[in-house]
Amino acid sequence: MKRSDLQQNARQYINGRWETGVTTGISENPSDTREVVAEYARADRNQTELAIRAAADAFPHWSQTTPQRRADVLDQIGSEILVRREELGKLLAREEGKTLPEAIGEAARAGHIFKFFAGEALRGDGETLASVRPGVQVDITREPLGVVGLITPWNFPFAIPAWKIAPALAYGNSVVFKPAELVPACGWALAEIISRAALPAGTFNLVMGSGREVGQSIVDSPLVDAISFTGSVVTGEHILQAATRRRAKVQLEMGGKNPLVVLADADLDRAVDCAVQGAYFSTGQHCTASSRLIVESTVHDAFVSRVRHRLAALKIGHALAQGTDIGPVVDRHQLERNLAAIESATAEGAEHMGGGERLNRATTGYYMSPALFLAKPEHRVARDEIFGPVACVLRADDYEHALVLANDTPFGLCAGICTTSLARAMHFKRHARVGMTMVNLPTAGVDYHVPFGGRKASSYGPREQGRHAAEFYTTVKTGYVLA
Ligand code: ADP
Repeated sequence: MKRSDLQQNARQYINGRWETGVTTGISENPSDTREVVAEYARADRNQTELAIRAAADAFPHWSQTTPQRRADVLDQIGSEILVRREELGKLLAREEGKTLPEAIGEAARAGHIFKFFAGEALRGDGETLASVRPGVQVDITREPLGVVGLITPWNFPFAIPAWKIAPALAYGNSVVFKPAELVPACGWALAEIISRAALPAGTFNLVMGSGREVGQSIVDSPLVDAISFTGSVVTGEHILQAATRRRAKVQLEMGGKNPLVVLADADLDRAVDCAVQGAYFSTGQHCTASSRLIVESTVHDAFVSRVRHRLAALKIGHALAQGTDIGPVVDRHQLERNLAAIESATAEGAEHMGGGERLNRATTGYYMSPALFLAKPEHRVARDEIFGPVACVLRADDYEHALVLANDTPFGLCAGICTTSLARAMHFKRHARVGMTMVNLPTAGVDYHVPFGGRKASSYGPREQGRHAAEFYTTVKTGYVLA
């Protein structure tokens, strides 16, 4: 194995100190599996409990710090991430496999998120009202929750931790952060920047290791007041049960099977761009990926033929190579899942329009070509989230039929429509049962300063990001005063 750029020192950060783990793990580069990206410390239940205890001890002090102090800390973290965006982007591309431009963009986004929440720490929020009783004044203030456990997935190893850690700290909570096992170097790099921002010891803690042990300890600890999780539906459901049993506050972001509707009046070139970007970029490893392309009958064949043409021209390769459009799948396990989904789609009668093969490149990695199917609404390829570069086209008779198909899913994260009709676009925005809608834009790709989240099986609890993040990371207190 190559260890040239090996990330040394990926240790736990507990109570203001870097700690070795109970065991050691490695992460590999999915573009070149000979390269170890990180050797990292793995915690067990006891070490996780030390981190939780440290966060609980730090909370009374941190929650009473001034907004200026919190704003300064977050601003410093955001500035350093922005200055180092290229270096951090390279690390992300090596460890997760998204292309270098996408990875640099994600690092920058993480920096902007910290800067945004630096501002939010200062802005605060509250209301003063007249009471219904004479002479009494009522105010409503927001207070932090306590210790928050942040459990994150591998597909956005900087942006998702940033959009949980930044509001948690901005509103005065202390943090126990557990990154996904496939991306410890990214989690560590972020923690290393945070560790130099003059936070009191214990306010922010990093624990790495397995979901079953480290993640589960966070979920079960009575000292953890709230849990924000992004990941799979199965794990999310499990966390929901466990956390609500002990009445912890929970926020979950899970899967999607997002529709992109293409109407006959759409600018077809734009629609094809939206479909290809939304379904396949970042190797389709987005919860906002457009994995169901719902196309009005009269433009169906032209749309399919243009998408196939575009897919054939995409360059699939090493995440760091110049000109790569799509990097590798994140790991062997996910690649096997994608290939199995393709086999089962063919077996259930979906029409395979190409792609879905393993590809060999100069370096050994988890490369596959983007796959397209023509499916029926009942096919599993049109119902189950695959989380890879696999999309299907569903034929719609007209707009009304397309809307029914768009909502015919257990998920409800986002939904897009390509049309030149303002009336249809507005109708779709109102009637799509999702948390986010996009008109003439890819479903994947959202702003960092506005709410993110969905409905139905996609999400649970208040939205993430933007000012609405306060709904999860704070609780309200109502005060009555007779002066
Ligand atoms: P994926 O299949 O994409 O890896 P998961 O939902 O399994 O998605 O993982 C998302 C995050 O949840 C990861 O950080 C993982 O370690 C963590 N996790 C997995 N199982 C549990 C669990 N039982 N309790 C808490 N966290 C978990």
